[in-house]
Amino acid sequence: MRRTQAGCLIVAVLIAVLGTPVLAVATASPAAADECYTWTRTLSQGTSGADVRQLQIRIAGWPGYHSCLAIDGAFGPATATALKRFQSAYGLVADGIAGSATYSKIYAVQDADCTPAHFSYAEMDDDRVGGWSGGKVSATTAKANALRQMWKLEALRHALGNNPLVVTSGFRSISCNNSLGGASNSQHLYGMAADLVSSYVSLCRIAQEARYHGFSGIFGPGYPGHGDHVHVDSRAENDDDGIANGFSWSAPNCGI
Ligand code: ZN
Repeated sequence: MRRTQAGCLIVAVLIAVLGTPVLAVATASPAAADECYTWTRTLSQGTSGADVRQLQIRIAGWPGYHSCLAIDGAFGPATATALKRFQSAYGLVADGIAGSATYSKIYAVQDADCTPAHFSYAEMDDDRVGGWSGGKVSATTAKANALRQMWKLEALRHALGNNPLVVTSGFRSISCNNSLGGASNSQHLYGMAADLVSSYVSLCRIAQEARYHGFSGIFGPGYPGHGDHVHVDSRAENDDDGIANGFSWSAPNCGI
């Protein structure tokens, strides 16, 4: 009886807070529940599935130098290595196994809409009112791509000492990109790019550190038109742009 009453209370509070009873079901696992996504098993090398893919999206910013992590739902050595780097960066035991400690850290770092704590969909959308349509991929794909970028940006931000990193340009519709004079095949049109500035770290520091966090495109100081921001993108993971996947980095003034 007490359990029922307590359960009803939780449901009632949730309804009061959230305005919908549907989400109250999530109270079944109090220690692990998260309003964005909840993992229900420990993941390690050899496992596969949608939950592995969700993990990969969140640790994709920790693949190591000049590398990117495949978001393929298969937990292999590269996923384990990225997970170890994530764990180490956040003060956890770096065992390459995703269990309660790892999940608790991810839950703490992410918002209710699955974006990381320090970046948002609004910040990643240049059109603001235009949403995610009008680019070179569907709105659904552009938004999903932007989410993946944000998790890499969160890793980059963390590695730069948790100093604020500002996205001055993210996803662009074709008309928005034209008005900005962007390249016709810009990764911004796919939700795969971000232009960055910071009042706390230099542009060169951003560009140099970005090499370790899954960005296959980096352009900064010394590259034409990039003296006042650092452009990062994930072109090597873009299968929609008709361009052979590879890395392209240039920031000559920063030794890149
Ligand atoms: Zn850019």
